[in-house]
Amino acid sequence: MDSCVFCKIVAKQIPATVVHEDEHTLAFMDIGHVNPGHVLVAVKKHADNIFALDDAQAAAVFRSAARVSRAIRDAFAPQGLSVYQANGKAAGQTVFHFHVHLVPRHEADGMELTWPVKNPPREKLVDYAEKIKAKLV
Ligand code: AMP
Ligand code: ZN
Repeated sequence: MDSCVFCKIVAKQIPATVVHEDEHTLAFMDIGHVNPGHVLVAVKKHADNIFALDDAQAAAVFRSAARVSRAIRDAFAPQGLSVYQANGKAAGQTVFHFHVHLVPRHEADGMELTWPVKNPPREKLVDYAEKIKAKLV
């Protein structure tokens, strides 16, 4: 996509600090950088979000994410690592080319995600599960 910043990175039209690439993915340093070692794993072929991934891309993204995560762990010895991935503005996505954040984590590092637990009754969970199962292809 002509106007997509990550497509431009993949095409080497704008610079990025690349740490890994394979047939389907490119991993590079996030310029926003929440903590040292913060990497993005993006698909090479444009997909707006997770809904647009084909199976090969989906598999390749998690393979790269796991591989780069191990390297981040060994390079930075973080206390933890968060895998963060947003789809759509409401979910916090700001670059509409599919990518996964790998964020090394430390106690009290200021990164927060509010998690408003509802604990619905079991019947509700069964109902929600049935709705999803009816759409699985
Ligand atoms: P998200 O909000 O999940 O869509 O994340 C988009 C991320 O892309 C942000 O963390 C930005 O810091 C990062 N970003 C935007 N432009 C660039 C760029 N040119 N090179 C590296 N990272 C970028
Ligand atoms: Zn793109």
